[in-house]
Amino acid sequence: MKDRNVKGIIQSIIEKETDELMGISFSCVCGRTHAIPIEYLSVKKGAILEVKHQMDKLGVSGNGGLIYDKRIEGNIGKKVLQTLEDQGVFIKPYPVGDGNEILKPEIELSKRIADRIDTGTDYLISAGSGVVSDLTKNAAALVELPFMLIATAPSMNGYTSSMAALTDKGIKKTLMIPSAKAVFADINILTDSPIEMIRSGLGDIVSKSVCNADWKISQLIKNTYFCPFPYRLTAKTEPLYLEAAEQIGQGTDYGIKILTDGIMRSGLSMTVIGTSTPSSGAEHFLSHHWDLMALKEGKEKHLHGVQVGVATIIILKLYDYIRNYPVRKRLNLSKLKKNYQSRKSVHTFIEQQYGEYAEEINKEYFQKYMDWKDKKKEIEYIIEKWPDIWNELDPYIHPTKPVEEALKKSGAAVHYSHLGKTKDEVICDLRNAMFIRGRYTALDLAKDLDILDEASVKIL
Ligand SMILES: [Zn+2]
Ligand SMILES: [Zn+2]
Repeated sequence: MKDRNVKGIIQSIIEKETDELMGISFSCVCGRTHAIPIEYLSVKKGAILEVKHQMDKLGVSGNGGLIYDKRIEGNIGKKVLQTLEDQGVFIKPYPVGDGNEILKPEIELSKRIADRIDTGTDYLISAGSGVVSDLTKNAAALVELPFMLIATAPSMNGYTSSMAALTDKGIKKTLMIPSAKAVFADINILTDSPIEMIRSGLGDIVSKSVCNADWKISQLIKNTYFCPFPYRLTAKTEPLYLEAAEQIGQGTDYGIKILTDGIMRSGLSMTVIGTSTPSSGAEHFLSHHWDLMALKEGKEKHLHGVQVGVATIIILKLYDYIRNYPVRKRLNLSKLKKNYQSRKSVHTFIEQQYGEYAEEINKEYFQKYMDWKDKKKEIEYIIEKWPDIWNELDPYIHPTKPVEEALKKSGAAVHYSHLGKTKDEVICDLRNAMFIRGRYTALDLAKDLDILDEASVKIL
């Protein structure tokens, strides 16, 4: 009876419009309480005109600081600062960067921003997209100030997440941060954002078509925590943004509204759980790996969501390959044992491959490494449960075609060659992306079954 009640509550929550989800809290079927502490979200034309009114309602007042990228100072002056002043919100500008350099999402930079904030400041507002929002979130956490976010591009799903993705010594870290008090996504501002950033937003959220399968697979094989609610929360918007892909790529009011709604919901799906897992699986690890390689080789990286979109297609195809592999017929445990890498050889490999970043990578990867004796038991369990595993994963893996088509229609990259990568490079990247994080994903499964390389050759 209690379960039925909870299911009813979940159903009524997922049917809500995105802005109506603020402030919810309920006991879930997974045994945990989920809450959204953000107090106000607005995704509409003229959202920014409501800042003062909402500040009054939320009890935010006093001396404010506005954080933004100095490279877009002209735009911020016109569209944000002036609009706030017109409402009677006079706020001290804190431009970040020298106006030329591309800001890096580094923990160090967020600390330097925090150091610059005047004593006596009562609240912070960020006006920007992914990097500036994440820098502001961590700076606000460091100086313990409430903050609000004004979105300037629908380029990623972090606005509504209670975490900041920042790098520490080159490695992307997910830091838990108190949520924003309010998020303002003004369609009039967002439609003006560069088209590549809009496509990046779509790439980031199409990962929903597969990333929850990685979370689920970890539960099925490793007995880790899983909750179906975050996926269900985002399922409502998924067909809408896939359908509206062409309009999204054209930056129309309708397309941007649908996309922004999707990215906000995707962010909330992480906030309710308190980790990035519901919006980030192997496709994100592949993208983080590409970032790390770009850093190591001094190359310029592509936008986060642009990479994630391409990686999503690859991981969808990988899942398809694994699912159709006749595992019971072809798996050879003694061959697996012979090829299985010892702790020592993995360590040596990581040292050689990652150099100065090896220490961080080791910390992540050895969370999931097992000695052969335990790995053998795990593989035997996987083979025994093979049909059940796929039945359970099925709802979380969507067909590749509609996702690929949507990215194409929006004009976004769909193939690794669009990112300037070769097949041989990506085969190698797929082998190495699993080292980036301690979580078990399709990449680990394919490796454990010793089919990752043959799958890569076929699907790429
Ligand atoms: Zn739950
Ligand atoms: Zn992402």
